[in-house]
Amino acid sequence: MCGGAWVFPRLRCPFCGAQAAKDLVRLEAEEKEEGYFISACRQCKAYVKELDRRIRWNAGPALVEDWGSPHFDMVALRAGYWRPIASLIQLARRI
Ligand SMILES: [Zn+2]
Repeated sequence: MCGGAWVFPRLRCPFCGAQAAKDLVRLEAEEKEEGYFISACRQCKAYVKELDRRIRWNAGPALVEDWGSPHFDMVALRAGYWRPIASLIQLARRI
């Protein structure tokens, strides 16, 4: 188990603590954008959007990037995952 394909080895789910590799999945949008990906957990069905700043070195602040990638949320929601950290879209709806 060395030199794996994972760019960012994720050792455990930050929400439920699942550590098994089979529980930690990476989702990709249909319109794939290099440097963006979704990390999801099969145990608690939580997901987070992530940005690889080594690729997207000119990316904006996290909040701006979050606004700019709603299609990633759609992919995750359609796959049955939810987001423990409220997205700005969800916050905006509440107002
Ligand atoms: Zn989890």
